[in-house]
Amino acid sequence: MSEAKSDESELNALLCGCGRQIRYSHFKNGVEVGSCNKHIVCPTYDELSENLRIANNKLSKYQKAINDIDDYFEYAMDSKTDQKKVHQILGNLTDALAT
Ligand SMILES: [Zn+2]
Repeated sequence: MSEAKSDESELNALLCGCGRQIRYSHFKNGVEVGSCNKHIVCPTYDELSENLRIANNKLSKYQKAINDIDDYFEYAMDSKTDQKKVHQILGNLTDALAT
C-alpha cells in the first residue's frame, strides 16, 4: 500500500500540472517547476478549482448588480425609451455572462 503511494508521488513529480509529461523547466515564484509547455506553466487542478471559485463569485456579484439596476430602472425611470435601452444593455450583459 505504501509502496503504491510512493510510486504515485514519484509519478506526480514527473507530471506537469495538467497531467502531461514534463518537458521544460520554469521558475515560478523563485522555485523551479516543470511544465509540458515551453512558454507557460500549466495550472494544477487545485489552481483551476480556486480560479473557478473566484470567477463564479464575481459572476454572482455581476448578476446581483444586473438585477439591482434592472429593478431600479423599472420603478424609478419615467422615460420608456431610456428604460427600454437599459433593459437591452442589461439583457445583452446577462446573455454574455451566461455563455
Ligand atoms: Zn501542462
